[in-house]
Amino acid sequence: MPEFEYWWLLGFPLFFGLGWIAARIDIRQVELHFALGSLFRRRGEYDRAIRMHQNLLERAHLPEDQKVIALVELGQDYLKAGILDRAEEVFSKLEKSSQAGTARAHLLEIYEQEKDWARAIALAREIGTDARVQAQYHCELAGSEMTSSRPDGARRHLDAALEANRKCVRASLLFGDLERLGGSRERAIEHWKRIESQNPAYLALAAQRLYEAHSEGGHAEEGLRLLAGYLERYPSLDLLDIVFQQTLEAKGHEEAYKLMRDELRRNPTLLGLDRWLEAQVIAASSPDKRRDLELVRNLVHGHVRRLARYRCETCGFKARQFYWRCPGCGGWETYPPRRTEEFELTP
Ligand SMILES: [Zn+2]
Repeated sequence: MPEFEYWWLLGFPLFFGLGWIAARIDIRQVELHFALGSLFRRRGEYDRAIRMHQNLLERAHLPEDQKVIALVELGQDYLKAGILDRAEEVFSKLEKSSQAGTARAHLLEIYEQEKDWARAIALAREIGTDARVQAQYHCELAGSEMTSSRPDGARRHLDAALEANRKCVRASLLFGDLERLGGSRERAIEHWKRIESQNPAYLALAAQRLYEAHSEGGHAEEGLRLLAGYLERYPSLDLLDIVFQQTLEAKGHEEAYKLMRDELRRNPTLLGLDRWLEAQVIAASSPDKRRDLELVRNLVHGHVRRLARYRCETCGFKARQFYWRCPGCGGWETYPPRRTEEFELTP
């Protein structure tokens, strides 16, 4: 019966068609899973995102490239959810895949969060992370060696930090602290002074230390002269503040007042005004005048406190304290060592 065979053959396109539709439905479902998974993660519903991506991975016929992407997604779910050991496990599996680059970048992020600086250093070297960041890892290690009273270990890491990045200001600051702890003020001062050639904007961070080390050694006047020179060359509110306080203590309100008056002419800032008023209050000739001046000073002081913050250049996170790594976005050296008032004045 040849007719029947021909009729049977006519069914093929239909079967192919159905197969194609089934495959399309399958692809659509996979796409839907990916879309929902990342939506859940963005909304902070990590449990549901994890389940979505695990479901995908359990599919028997998921193509290899899709599987790799599903793993990357799953790793990110765990990372965002703070389940670091699971995230590490997932990204470690991907180290030889087409997504190895992404996986390693996430692994580095995990080591940073775990504060596992030794592994961070090893991986950063391997993948060629920015030398400034590598130097920061060494500084982290040096810092913990110092808190555990292991000066030799700290020294080794600080040397490594400067080797990675000879302009690493943090290493110079810590080196100075280490020398000062060890009783060598002279060497401490040398380390801190080096910051001028590394990046003078950061001198403000060393100013208080520099003054104290000079003063402890009986060279307060020399210390003040050094800072006044820095202030002249690299105007900064923090430097100004320290120079003002020390002038007030060492030379009295008359000198401090003159310093602020000159500074206000050169660089009119609220902080300058605040300190100028402070000197005025101290020098006030009558209790009535003092009360008036105090009223004005308190008003200005409130604003200064609000303004005097550091701000991350990457994410805008503001903090009273200076950070080498932003608590908001995790970026390294994203805080310029200047207060926000200076920002608003700097064109
Ligand atoms: Zn930030």
